[in-house]
Amino acid sequence: MAERVTNWSGSVSFTPETIAAPKHTGQLITLLKRAGRDGATVRPMGSGHSSTPIFSTSDVLLSLDNMSGVLEVEPDAGWAKVLPGTGLRDLGEQLAEHGVAMENLGDVDYQAIAGAISTATHGSGITLGNLSSTLIGGVLINGLGEEVPFGVDAGVSPAESVSDDLLRAAQVSFGTLGVLTSLTLRVEPAHHLHRLNWITHIDWVLENYAELVETNRSMDFYWYPRSDLAQVRTLNKPGDEPALTPEGEPYTELKKDVTGPNYEVIPNDRMLHFEEMEYMLPFDQDLAAFRRVRERVKAKHRAEVGWRVLVRTIAADHAMLSNTEAEYRQGSPSMTIALLQNNTLPFKRYFDDIEPIFWQFDGRPHWGKKHTLKGAELAPLYPQWDAFHGIRRSMDPDGLFMNDYLHELFGEEK
Ligand SMILES: Cc1cc2nc3c(=O)[nH]c(=O)nc-3n(C[C@H](O)[C@H](O)[C@H](O)COP(=O)(O)OP(=O)(O)OC[C@H]3O[C@@H](n4cnc5c(N)ncnc54)[C@H](O)[C@@H]3O)c2cc1C
Repeated sequence: MAERVTNWSGSVSFTPETIAAPKHTGQLITLLKRAGRDGATVRPMGSGHSSTPIFSTSDVLLSLDNMSGVLEVEPDAGWAKVLPGTGLRDLGEQLAEHGVAMENLGDVDYQAIAGAISTATHGSGITLGNLSSTLIGGVLINGLGEEVPFGVDAGVSPAESVSDDLLRAAQVSFGTLGVLTSLTLRVEPAHHLHRLNWITHIDWVLENYAELVETNRSMDFYWYPRSDLAQVRTLNKPGDEPALTPEGEPYTELKKDVTGPNYEVIPNDRMLHFEEMEYMLPFDQDLAAFRRVRERVKAKHRAEVGWRVLVRTIAADHAMLSNTEAEYRQGSPSMTIALLQNNTLPFKRYFDDIEPIFWQFDGRPHWGKKHTLKGAELAPLYPQWDAFHGIRRSMDPDGLFMNDYLHELFGEEK
């Protein structure tokens, strides 16, 4: 038995039989074939920042930490080939050496690139897709131990990639098609961003939300349930900042004003560990879902909620299991609402009570955060559900990459 493994928030833990950390593809293939022969299962893990048991296993846990770094960059063509265990922070620094950068990032940069992509990690911005939408190709080792290139790595042009089924399945696949060993990412020329974080009253945000979303490259806000204050965070190319900024005495205060490379300015440090539930909902400039959540929190949960509620936006994309996948919402962007609760405080009663509001507003859950949906409820939310699982079964016919949680999530018998 290996040592007990615990995720970042502390709510998921398990003891694998072994933890393997291959240094190259050859070792990985040998390991997968051996596991298959032994009747064992294998789960890859990134940095363990998900708070669902999507990486749990009592057999072989796979760390990709020894397969890290940028392999190749074509700045003019706008792509970079990277190894799966590359941490997002290192990735930003290494891409910058080649004069390129990721289009957008999430709230932190602790994750490994393959882990972040596999659950559709996103930042904020109505025209900016999640990280998975920047995956234009790569290589995975499937459940039979075969090396399978997809997307541009299989000769599909970037223009055709929206109709490449294997790519669209691989973009958000929780390591169930295979282990990603190389990821080809669409990148942009390196650029600076100007971050402004303001504290203001939530009423000002509600009144000005539509304009804030439309005029900023990226905008999100936190609502602090106990005080009714909000933190509005904007990111723009320096010189492109809109005129509208929070106002209203005595609440408004500029908390942060910083300019720098995007990979330094977008992510934040998170010392407080927390549990989180996040749903992707149809974009709505009137924030009806948020207003309903706020009413309910104020009526029932104010005393128990230690932290904040976060609202962001994301552009639609084409990944089959992306929770911002275009077909389901006719190409419209999404807004997300996330409940954050200190991991030292109870979260279940609070999350369980609010989750039905997300369902009423046609939400789809974040795959790496707390939710209670299973296959029967999830399948109707994903027009490509069956197509995805057909591809998954062809890539992993013997279920080498499955665990109990995934069987339930996919609504499949063991
Ligand atoms: C503090 C914090 C902040 C966060 N901020 C955001 C945010 O701003 N936006 C957002 O959308 N999410 C956010 N998340 C969620 C987080 O980005 C996702 O849960 C992400 O998947 C975690 O990446 P990871 O490297 O830790 O992967 P893990 O959680 O370790 O794994 C995630 C999935 O990737 C699979 N996987 C890992 N490596 C491979 C591989 N090589 N091949 C195939 N599959 C693989 C695993 O099997 C698993 O299914 C946050 C989480 C925390 C704890």
